[in-house]
Amino acid sequence: MDKKLGVYICTGCGIGDSLDIEKLSKVATKEYKISVCKTHACLCADEGVGFIKSDCEAEAVTTTIICACSRRIHQDIFDFADKVVERVNLREHVVWSQPANHEDTQMMAEDYLRMGIVKAQKSQALDPYKPAEEISRVVLVVGGGVAGMTAAIEAAKAGTQVVLVEKEACLGGFSAKLHKHFPVNPPYDSLQTPPHVAMIKEVEVNPNINVHTSAKIQKIAGGPGLFDVTMEQKGESSQFRVGAIVLAAGFVPYDATKLAHLGFGASPNVITNVQMEELAKKGKIIRPSDGKEAKNVAFIQCAGSRDANHLPYCSTSCCMTSLKQAIYVREQNQDTAAYIFYKDMRTMGQHEDFYIRAQEDEGIFLTKGEVVGVKAIAGDNLAVTVENTLLGENIQIEADMVVLATGMVPVTGIEMVVKEVTIDDASCEQEQCSQVSSATPDETAIIKSDILNLEYRQGPELPQLRYGFPDSHFICFPYETRRTGIYAAGCVRHPMDIGACMDDACGAALKAIQCIELTSHGKAVHPRVGDMSYPEFFMQRCTQCKRCTDECPFGAINEDEKFNPLPNPTRCRRCGTCMGACPERIISFKDYSIDIISSMMKAINVPEEDEEKPRVLVFMCENDAVPALDMAGAKRLSLNPYVRVIPVRCLGSVHLVWITDALSKGIDGVLLIGCKHGDDYQCHFVKGSELANTRLSKVKETLDRLRLESERVKMVQLAINEYDLLPGIFSEFMETMEKVGPNPFKGF
Ligand code: SF4
Ligand code: SF4
Repeated sequence: MDKKLGVYICTGCGIGDSLDIEKLSKVATKEYKISVCKTHACLCADEGVGFIKSDCEAEAVTTTIICACSRRIHQDIFDFADKVVERVNLREHVVWSQPANHEDTQMMAEDYLRMGIVKAQKSQALDPYKPAEEISRVVLVVGGGVAGMTAAIEAAKAGTQVVLVEKEACLGGFSAKLHKHFPVNPPYDSLQTPPHVAMIKEVEVNPNINVHTSAKIQKIAGGPGLFDVTMEQKGESSQFRVGAIVLAAGFVPYDATKLAHLGFGASPNVITNVQMEELAKKGKIIRPSDGKEAKNVAFIQCAGSRDANHLPYCSTSCCMTSLKQAIYVREQNQDTAAYIFYKDMRTMGQHEDFYIRAQEDEGIFLTKGEVVGVKAIAGDNLAVTVENTLLGENIQIEADMVVLATGMVPVTGIEMVVKEVTIDDASCEQEQCSQVSSATPDETAIIKSDILNLEYRQGPELPQLRYGFPDSHFICFPYETRRTGIYAAGCVRHPMDIGACMDDACGAALKAIQCIELTSHGKAVHPRVGDMSYPEFFMQRCTQCKRCTDECPFGAINEDEKFNPLPNPTRCRRCGTCMGACPERIISFKDYSIDIISSMMKAINVPEEDEEKPRVLVFMCENDAVPALDMAGAKRLSLNPYVRVIPVRCLGSVHLVWITDALSKGIDGVLLIGCKHGDDYQCHFVKGSELANTRLSKVKETLDRLRLESERVKMVQLAINEYDLLPGIFSEFMETMEKVGPNPFKGF
């Protein structure tokens, strides 16, 4: 069917009062010869939508250009099933941020309409990617601890088939090593049986859950909907296909042998909180050195945690663990004392009630302070010296046992040496669980992350943030990793207690199900949820430069032995970073391409130099920056009238040729506004914004060639809540343009 455009201009929300609508309509009808250009007083009302629908029907319109409010709102209202819809924001970006009935305001509206028309002309209808093979709806859960079992149970309850793979001989994970669990149910004051016991039974009888213990993932190939898993179990290899993966592989305790300054290694009576669980689980808390009952037990909090030389972060549950273990000591014998030395006592949410219960116990002494020494003294006892206490005094106590509250290290952590120390042959609930208890004292294990063994060009495991936690975007997208369709849950994602692990696992399981559902319809997962476009490669002109395979933030592109890119569309998040990277400009989406954006830019009317109306082009990221611009409009902040904004999927998708094209056309300056990058990044596509920054360093060469000043191109990082900075950012850049003078290419 031939494409036929229809332009519909809303005159509500102040648009009709601020603009010459007749003149605006002529841009469509005269400049672009579009025969269908109608206005309506309120396009988003039932009557307005009905008007568009009937008019499209009568006029055989295939592509509608809605000139009204932000594209971020009323997406459901302006959804006309089989029609392509392009939105032109005349409200927030024009009339709400510009003076009414001003020549510059009218020029801005006309430019945005031109850009909208060109985009609609050049865009093609979307044809969602549907692989030839059937999408699998099975979820693979890696890790059979509390988080993994919760993910499996919750996914199974939703009707999803689950394969649960656990490397140990039995399920239960770290929970199986616990004597008791601190309370997660009201009134939050008594110790509870760890949850794994009931969960194992539930998993084992659930027909939707297929459990494999003593099993390991050898290889995972493919992508969402089509992950081909090779598993090794008891020496046998088997293959199966899954649609999405939940990684719940847990943590290892921090290596206590690095804590000599806290006495570890100096006396067998200095133990870790993990060893304390083993002692309590055996029935009696006794000193390792002589088997005597421990009567004065000192607990040292943040042992290696919140410490720049060890783990700089808080493991969130060690405070609760020590309170719990102090109660173990007190419940064993009322004639005992437990001393807890803390930097800060962190008992979040309802855990505060349990903290109060411990405070009320006359045998538990809680003191803020810094432990500066633990020394072995006569009688196998230990002298603990604490400075900077709340009392302002240094204190020393004599204990017959010291427990170090060590933190958590995710198993995905970078290669590290972990010394797993056990009191001796501690056992878990089930006899056959030999692997949990097999570590011998002082055995040194090199823990290497080889959990998923992905067949991805960018590496076999999940990319990690600081400290080895796999993550994608810590604010907006919990659970999501930088490998589409693989969701992290529990302590592998960040340190948390058992209750939080269970909540986390529910979220990850739902994300996995959502991924399968969206993939089966050829739609993108977060953050462009539902997007049906995907990158297409014109391979005849590929030079095998490997830029796209290197720079894709999500490892979506593999390559063959000749370095030809092999895209995996179901892994793709549709950010366009590959498009921005490709020097040959051969990567494009049906509705987002080098040509479409270049053509939009060329549609901007650039006044002659003597008109003294400069033009600045802003490539603005759709994730944070464009919503911030919408908010600036909604707050009626006054914005510079000479700025023209082109929304982009991510600054990573900005191709340097767009900047060259803009400057060659006489645009005075180019701004790139996108998400913040760096360690605590906000970039929704992880590294797109950072890549844009790197690429910009190369633009200077182009500017030199054009004999243009480097000040004409600038990148700004903006968070969504910084909308109030936009007027200043625009005017400051415009002042720079005034200083450097008009672009000499105007009029060419
Ligand atoms: S860079 Fe973005 S658009 Fe390109 S393949 Fe990777 S995820 Fe998809
Ligand atoms: S960036 Fe472009 S030219 Fe380079 S390998 Fe990828 S598709 Fe080929």
